[in-house]
Parts: sequence; C-alpha cells; structure tokens
Amino acid sequence: MHEYDRLFIGGDWVRPCGTGKLNVVSPHSLQVVGSVPRAEMADLEQAVSAAREAFDDGPWPRTPPEERAAAVARFSDVYSKRTAELAGLITSEVGSPISFSRLAQGLAPWMMLESFLKAAKEHPWEQDRRGTLGNRIVVLREPVGVVGAIVPWNMPQFLAMSKLAPALLAGCTVVLKPPPEAALDSMVMAEALSEAALPPGVVSIVPGGASLGEALVHHPRVDKIAFTGSTAVGRTIAGACGAQLKRCTLELGGKSAAIVLDDADLDRTADGLRFASLMNNGQACVAHSRILAPRSRYGEVVDAVASMVGSLVVGDPADPATAVGPLATAAQRQRVERYVQLGGDEGARLVLGGTGMPEGLERGWYVKPTLFADADNHMTVAREEIFGPVLVVIPYIDDADAVRIANDSPYGLAGSVWTEDTARAIDVAKKVRSGTFGINNYMMDFTAPFGGYRSSGIGRELGPEGLDQYVELKSVVTLESVVS
Ligand code: NAD
Repeated sequence: MHEYDRLFIGGDWVRPCGTGKLNVVSPHSLQVVGSVPRAEMADLEQAVSAAREAFDDGPWPRTPPEERAAAVARFSDVYSKRTAELAGLITSEVGSPISFSRLAQGLAPWMMLESFLKAAKEHPWEQDRRGTLGNRIVVLREPVGVVGAIVPWNMPQFLAMSKLAPALLAGCTVVLKPPPEAALDSMVMAEALSEAALPPGVVSIVPGGASLGEALVHHPRVDKIAFTGSTAVGRTIAGACGAQLKRCTLELGGKSAAIVLDDADLDRTADGLRFASLMNNGQACVAHSRILAPRSRYGEVVDAVASMVGSLVVGDPADPATAVGPLATAAQRQRVERYVQLGGDEGARLVLGGTGMPEGLERGWYVKPTLFADADNHMTVAREEIFGPVLVVIPYIDDADAVRIANDSPYGLAGSVWTEDTARAIDVAKKVRSGTFGINNYMMDFTAPFGGYRSSGIGRELGPEGLDQYVELKSVVTLESVVS
C-alpha cells in the first residue's frame, strides 16, 4: 500500500486542509492500492498563492534560462531513478500492461524531460533582429506566468511532464492537478521535485476531481491552463478561458484512421496496428480505432487484423506476457461495453470479441478486445471516441476515398498510412488533416510538435513548439543600428 498523508504545496510537504482521501483502486484486483489526501479548495488557494508569489517576487522567472535548466536537470537526475517504480505504480493504478508501462509510463516521461532540456539549450529566449530601419530589435520570450496543469488518468506522468517540463524551463510556476484515479504517481513526482529542491512556490501538486480542476481554471490569479482530457471538458475550459482571456492549451480526444493501401504488407501492417490501435488497452487519445481497408483487399485486411487481435493475451497487467489489461475504471468498462453493444445494433459485423468478460477472467474491469467489420463511417462506433480495445474496419474505393473518410471526423489528432510506396504515402500524409501522422508506424517523437486539428484541441505540446506554449513574446525596439 502506498499511503500519503501530506500534500506537496509550494515546495513543502504540508498537512492538507481537509480530512478527505482519494483511494486508488487496482482495476485488476479491485483492491485499494494506496491513498493520497484529497486537496480542498483551501489547499488549492495555498498552492496558487505560493505559485503567484514565486512568479511575481521569487527568483525563478528572473533566473537565466541556463541556470533554470540546471535546476530542472537536477530534477531529471532524481526522476531517472524512479522510472521503473513509476511504471509499476501506474500499472497498478490504471491497468496499463507492464510491457507498455515500462516504456511509455515510466521511461518516456523522463526521456521527454531530457528532450525538453536539450531543446531549451537551443531555444531563442532572447533574439536579436534587424528592424525595418536597420535598427536593433530584441525579441524576448518571457514566461507566461502561473500555469494550471490538468491531466487525465490514461498517461498521468507522460501528460504531466509534457506540461511541467516546458513550463519550468520557460520560467513559469506550476500548480498541477492530477486525476483522482491515478493520484499516487503524482506523489512520486512530488518526491523527485522535493529532492531536486527548486525554489519555494515553483511547483505544487493538488490531487482532486472535476470541481478542483474547475476552480483552477476559473482562478483569477492563474495565467494559463494546460489541459489534456476529453473534448467535452476541453470545450468548457476553452469557454471559461475565453471569458477571462486566459491562455490555454487543449489536448483532447481522437478517432484516428489507419489507412491500409492496396499494396501494403499485411503482416507488417497488422503488427504495427497492435501498438497504433491498441496501446494502453486502447485508452490512448491517438489510438487508431478506424482501420480503412481497400475494397480490392478488404477480406485480407479484416483477416490480418482479426488474427492480430485474436492473438492478444488479455489478463493481469503486471504480467509481462499481457497485451491487454483491464480498463481503468468501472465507468470506463460500462461505457466501452455500451459502444460494443451499439456497434452490433447499428449493423456493423462483429468479427471478434463482444460484450461480457473475456474467457478465464472473473474479476476486474476487463472487456474483450473487439473487432467490427463492414462498418460505415457514419456509425456512432466510427465517429465517437470509445477509449478501449474496440476497432472498426471501414471499406474504401480508392486513395481519394480513403482520405475523404479519414477526414470525415470531428477529430484530427493522429493517423497513419501503410504501404510500400513512399511517394503515395507522402501524398496521403499531406492530405489527412491531423496533427501527427505516421508512415508504416505510429509514434510520437519528443522533438516534434504534438496536438490536434478540429475538436482534438488547440495548441501543441513537445518540441521547441511545446516550449513556446509557455511564453509571451515581447518586442523591444531600439534605435541602435545593427552592424551587418
Ligand atoms: P476528463 O476530461 O474527464 O478529465 C481530464 C482531467 O480534467 C481530470 O484531471 C479531471 O479531474 C479534470 N476535469 C474534469 N472536469 C473538469 C472541469 N469541468 N474543469 C476542469 N477540470 C476538469 O478526461 P478523462 O476521462 O480523465 O481522460 C480521457 C480523455 O482524455 C479522452 O477523451 C482522451 O482522448 C483524452 N486524452 C487526450 C490526450 C491528448 O494529448 N490529446 C492524451 C490523453 C488523453
């Protein structure tokens, strides 16, 4: 059991204002695996005050970027020693298969932090330009202020780091609100931050639910919200930030399409889709949950994907052989089962899976990996984000039709094309309206911007573009002439 009785606020471990607890339950055993104090509004108030003071009067925003980077590098050193522990902890919190967690929930956040440190070294924090009159212009990148960071449960460290690292390197102060379902790992992050000894007030962590997140969004002393979560909540946050003219970055849902072209190597494609479509039990914003198959090879594509889905080992997420673990919460399980029922009701052909517990499992929030074929892009299961191991195969006529179907979605987060023909692949990549795209793979790269078109969000994380989400640009115009 991982029990915490203090909150990390303003750089110190302090007694919480209330007595409430957040119990974190394993979706596999349904046992409580640990608890953290539930932050109250009064705790949030302390956290925002500490962040405000540290920003307005403390050294952090005024420290030269290379000195800030040295402090963040201390955090990175401490964090690097906790990645295996974080992977195991997140597996017990949300049921990610440990083989996925080791890489994506533990190591990847640290690799991302290192990548941001490298990008910060080369970032033009202060840039000289030659003005219209030949005069010297200085463009400054100044920290945006106090950042409220709100993250979901599916990739809690990865998504916290994608906000914390660039915000700190830019000179912002941060109040992080982790999700109640996965609050334990945020305490490990707090321990690493505490050991790295950043100046007081620079980071606070307040675990809590929707109402605490809402209070952070509406707080008049917070300058920017960085949010990852559902499109529905993202819309309300965008509205609240708009009313306050508060900066915001929104990373939201997806319904990405994998376009299998008629020359694709189907074994290689199905193998690649194992990760692209089903990573983290299908609970990934970038999950390629629509598979577009050419009519000329339709049966072959369905068979190849069915054989991959049918081979997946479902079970205890702590077992390295497991490919699909339980869904994170009981509500999530119910929601996914409803979609599986609906797919059949709407007329899609059930190839594998269906409702009910997977064979051999009696307990836990498990669903059967499910494949629907003969789906139409207008069906609910092809339009809405299911957030579970449920795939639909949709037939198309030619490349133009495939692109049309891929783009016929409220979302635009990710996508991929599978083919032996690079020129054709590039052509398709240019025509699909999504923030990221893979050719014969799907991966996020820490050096490249990540984010969504349309209802998948506003703004970008990662890469130098990710650092720029935490700055205000200031132009200083001088009358000095530039000697060229
Ligand atoms: P959610 O939107 O319900 O919650 C996300 C976070 O926001 C949680 O911390 C929650 O407590 C908080 N929250 C809820 N209501 C709020 C409100 N009104 N104001 C402020 N904060 C509020 O999402 P979820 O169910 O936790 O996560 C799954 C969703 O996240 C999926 O839609 C998925 O696609 C999306 N997601 C997006 C990305 C991306 O980078 N685009 C990455 C991962 C997950």
